[in-house]
Amino acid sequence: MCTINDLRNAVINGITKSDAEEFMTECDFKDLARVANELTRKITGDTVTVVNNVVINYSNICVAQCPICAFYRPKGHPEAYVRTPEEITKGVLEAKARFGVTELHINGGFNQT
Ligand code: SF4
Repeated sequence: MCTINDLRNAVINGITKSDAEEFMTECDFKDLARVANELTRKITGDTVTVVNNVVINYSNICVAQCPICAFYRPKGHPEAYVRTPEEITKGVLEAKARFGVTELHINGGFNQT
């Protein structure tokens, strides 16, 4: 059983991997959230920061075909695509030049082709 003071002490003294695993299984989620919020307020206060990023999808072809997904297309579908490394590079450079992005995310489906 852990208490909110156990969590606060761990935050002050440093958390090991085994501490984190124990906290995730033994502690009340609201206590975890409360201490996380306290730590955030201590470190950043009310300051909000943002990162200007771009998300590039290399392919929307996906074999998983999750029922909740509106993104994927099966291989051979007229809307299916695969972007080449050159197209991705061009898109990143264009996003940097036009919007000043400093972070890149690369997403895509499970395309086995
Ligand atoms: S793209 Fe992601 S969410 Fe969509 S079908 Fe594939 S694995 Fe599922």
